[in-house]
Amino acid sequence: MDNYHRKRILITGGAGFLGSHLCERLLKEGNDVVCLDNFFTGTKDNIIHLMDDHHFELLRHDVVNPLIIEVDEIYNLACPASPPHYQYNPIKTNKTSVMGAINMLGLAKRVKGKILQASTSEVYGDPAVHPQTEDYWGNVNPIGARSCYDEGKRCAETLFFDYYREHKLRIKVVRIFNTYGPNMHPHDGRVVSNFIIQALKGEDITIYGEGQQTRSFCYVDEMIDGFIRMMATDDSVTGPVNLGNPGEFTIKELAEKIVDITGSKSKLVYKPLPTDDPKQRQPDITLAKKTLGWEPVIKLEEGLVKTIAYFDDLIKEGRA
Ligand code: NAD
Ligand code: UDP
Repeated sequence: MDNYHRKRILITGGAGFLGSHLCERLLKEGNDVVCLDNFFTGTKDNIIHLMDDHHFELLRHDVVNPLIIEVDEIYNLACPASPPHYQYNPIKTNKTSVMGAINMLGLAKRVKGKILQASTSEVYGDPAVHPQTEDYWGNVNPIGARSCYDEGKRCAETLFFDYYREHKLRIKVVRIFNTYGPNMHPHDGRVVSNFIIQALKGEDITIYGEGQQTRSFCYVDEMIDGFIRMMATDDSVTGPVNLGNPGEFTIKELAEKIVDITGSKSKLVYKPLPTDDPKQRQPDITLAKKTLGWEPVIKLEEGLVKTIAYFDDLIKEGRA
């Protein structure tokens, strides 16, 4: 692609798990990519292979501070995503979601660019409606340990829709359900990374509660495809749109699958359930199918094999 026709795309949180895959994919598609990150949970290791590409720029910046830059599109992913990471400094998590959204929406307004928000299934809280549809308003504790994240993300959605109504901004909101794959942080405390590392190291596998709570896991490549399709929709499409794999598993089933695939001798052990841990979660993706022609096809076992290979390498390199 010639330089005149290249789009310049800003990815906040670009050195994180999802952000790094998005940087790679958008570069491959012939765009100029500006990867912004404060490296709280992201790492240069995730993007080091992109550094020699002249169409890739890395910007150390914190989204709670305003930014002026010329771009055509913004993917706003900056925010710690795993419960231990987002609860480490809850006030900062909330500022990142809310002030980050204000700053990036302000930037999108200034440059008249399109902006996509990485929202979350956590806006549904511990859902009373199952599977979750976009018109469900959720069941969120506003003052609990998870609220810094859940309410921050809900407020960010509010800001996106107010900018849309007030300023006709071209917004795209996706609600991401649990996603897994290579480049996940080995110590993020999320269930897939914890169980795989425990299984590979022969350590006890820590199931919180009785392991009967459910989650639906989407492989990263398919999630990134959903983001790109959403950004490409015409201006009438704002979302929110659920993105996730509807295959629903109990946490105990996930542990058993990982033990099975790795051939591990690890034992399953039971630990207290964290407060406000959602009991069930499954996306209704009717809207994504209709609007984006998007539907995940990668089976959990298949995605786990690739993710296990990634963590196996990290362990061998002494990085996990
Ligand atoms: P991640 O922690 O790997 O990535 C987040 C990135 O944002 C990191 O690189 C981190 O350093 C950066 N960051 C954090 N605070 C920042 C700040 N103040 N300024 C600049 N950069 C900052 O998490 P992820 O799984 O890649 O998640 C990416 C986005 O997707 C997040 O917004 C998250 O809420 C959302 N999401 C992810 C999932 C999932 O299952 N992975 C599910 C729902 C929503
Ligand atoms: N979980 C678990 N053991 C772990 C980590 C997580 O049983 O070592 C459980 C957690 O309590 C939750 C589910 O797995 O019910 C998914 O947790 P995760 O932190 O990955 O994401 P969440 O969907 O809760 O944000």
